[in-house]
Amino acid sequence: MKTDLFIGNRWRAASSGETFDVINPATEKVIARVASASAEDADLAVEAARSCFDGGSWSGMAATKRGRLLHRCATLLESRLDEFARLESAHNGKTLFEAKIEVSMSASVLRYYAGWADKVEGRTVPVGGPNLVYTRREPVGVVAAIVPWNFPLNLAAWKFAPALAAGCSVILKPASETPLTALAFAELTREAGLPDGAFNVLTGGGSTAGAALVRSSGVDKIAFTGSTEVGRRIMAEAAAANRRISLELGGKSPNIIFSDADIDAAVRGALTGIFYGKGEVCAAGSRLLVDQSVHDEVVEKLAGRAAKLTPGDPLEKSTRMGALVSKGQLENVMAYIERGVREGARLVAGGKRATWNGKGYFVEATVFDRVTPEMSIAREEIFGPVLAVLPFDGEEAAVRLANETDYGLAAGVWTREVGKAHRVAASIRAGTVWINTYNLYDPAAPFGGFKASGFGRDLGGEALGGYLENKTVWVNLG
Ligand code: NAD
Repeated sequence: MKTDLFIGNRWRAASSGETFDVINPATEKVIARVASASAEDADLAVEAARSCFDGGSWSGMAATKRGRLLHRCATLLESRLDEFARLESAHNGKTLFEAKIEVSMSASVLRYYAGWADKVEGRTVPVGGPNLVYTRREPVGVVAAIVPWNFPLNLAAWKFAPALAAGCSVILKPASETPLTALAFAELTREAGLPDGAFNVLTGGGSTAGAALVRSSGVDKIAFTGSTEVGRRIMAEAAAANRRISLELGGKSPNIIFSDADIDAAVRGALTGIFYGKGEVCAAGSRLLVDQSVHDEVVEKLAGRAAKLTPGDPLEKSTRMGALVSKGQLENVMAYIERGVREGARLVAGGKRATWNGKGYFVEATVFDRVTPEMSIAREEIFGPVLAVLPFDGEEAAVRLANETDYGLAAGVWTREVGKAHRVAASIRAGTVWINTYNLYDPAAPFGGFKASGFGRDLGGEALGGYLENKTVWVNLG
């Protein structure tokens, strides 16, 4: 496969000639050496995207044709679902089962925004005097999409699909752990017929390639998904340069089980909420708040079922838990588990590192009970398969506990009482609330954070709006 930088529809090595290793976290083997972009390469990518945008080969293309080309990308991606899913699993460690869902969602996101391309309309505005006022919605310009490693292709598609549909040119900077599906997708956009510079991929480190894009005056908007810490840094730099940004950041999402819930469904939802994607999910329901009266039953069921989620070969059909993305991530997660034990939480499932064929960065599905709100495992984003169970007494206490966090990305509510479900959903300060379900996504449903989880929205018409400027035109009719 191609492992160079993709700039202006051409493959080129990094100007320094440097590469970095991509490791399969399930086997610990190097599976690719990928070009490591410098600031100089970032400038080349910005130049290509800029000249595409300013020249109008994409931004000025008939919107229906832009939509057709995006549909073609979706069709090509669907036809290579298995190949992309294997690649996604190989650099991320996720199961093939999850990788297929992810690639298929990426194609759906492309299709959804392909449909939007020719439906971006302005309006006429009733004003006084002999004037006609109308608005135009125009693409923001060159977009740098900087994305993390947990859903490498899908989270990239959440940004490049609406940006391209709006007529923007895109430079995608994938995480250095997981650049392979972005590169494979680049080749696919060329095959689909996107013009030179409409879609570029700049692989490399965050503090080098990523930071250079953030600083570049040729970039109009930075669309970032990643950690709250890096998001803050980007926000400071973008503020100094007056650059538009959207930030999708971390989370510590509460999943609340009330005593009147369908307990078996709630336990299944709690397990998917934390263990899907090995817990490396921004919206993971990592704090399980359980009504005291059903606490023991819930914990017993959780512990029993978590013990059956054995990590193993990600490519094996029956495996439901893959490897964490990297050695560093494994160490972070294990350090949190040790801290949980030290701080006095009760370990009721998992807690150990696991291997497959003696290798891999696997961690057992881990459940801590008797967690208190001040413990670090209740407050900090672990980004791994570790669940913290906290008991509560009454609706008001549940809402207070749920909101006792700097984050506000998502939440779950399990109850049979309709009024309570909607009351609690309205009271929780989070961008998404799932009622009697968890971790559902759709290209049409906006997703994003309150509070330290960021601002701006991915998906839905809201995301498209983030890649458009509004222009007001006054015409003297006198
Ligand atoms: P990260 O912040 O370390 O990296 C994200 C991206 O930013 C990578 O491409 C990285 O190379 C780049 N980067 C790093 N430093 C940079 C800098 N100084 N300037 C520009 N770019 C830089 O995050 P990660 O470890 O890859 O991903 C995990 C984090 O992402 C978690 O906190 C998780 O919650 C968050 N996340 C959020 C969402 C969401 O939608 N809210 C979705 C997925 C992941």
